[in-house]
Amino acid sequence: MKPRAAVFLDRDGTLIEEVGYLDQVDRVALYPWSTDAVRALNRAGFRVVVVSNQSGVARGFFTESVVEEVHRHIEARLAAGGAHVDAYYYCPHHPDGKVSAYARRCDCRKPARGLVDRAERELGIEPARSFVVGDRWLDVALARAVGARGVLVRTGYGATEEPRPLEGLDADAVTHNLIEAVSWILQRR
Ligand SMILES: [Mg+2]
Ligand SMILES: [Zn+2]
Repeated sequence: MKPRAAVFLDRDGTLIEEVGYLDQVDRVALYPWSTDAVRALNRAGFRVVVVSNQSGVARGFFTESVVEEVHRHIEARLAAGGAHVDAYYYCPHHPDGKVSAYARRCDCRKPARGLVDRAERELGIEPARSFVVGDRWLDVALARAVGARGVLVRTGYGATEEPRPLEGLDADAVTHNLIEAVSWILQRR
């Protein structure tokens, strides 16, 4: 299998609206441009992989089955517009979690690279040809950790985070939202 480029998308604040801990599927709100953005990546030949920190599982705010239900719901909304996500990966852990099965340090909570490593293994992704898009500096830090390019979007926490980068961190681009990030990516492949 020839290694492929991927666009790793953060979920909350990037693909769907940031609503705090998303504990019910009826609180899912895609941005108006999300389906178009994902479809454009599909057509350009990128794998599209959602990579998300869901520490609400470790904190006991919701279960993994809720996370999976949310992903099925997003996927159905995307499918209605002819778009699809190739895989949804998430980290359910947190060192200070209340649910013992998930209360630990792990290698998959962004900016750690575990979720990207999994995509490399399972989907044949080549990180060095890939991109990470997210609304937090930790998403850009993930890009740096795996040798991908990182785009910060101003939706979600992005506008608040933009003036306060993590130490030594610089995005390859800062865009208003996901559709602009996708335009930037498509001009650079
Ligand atoms: Mg986010
Ligand atoms: Zn984890």
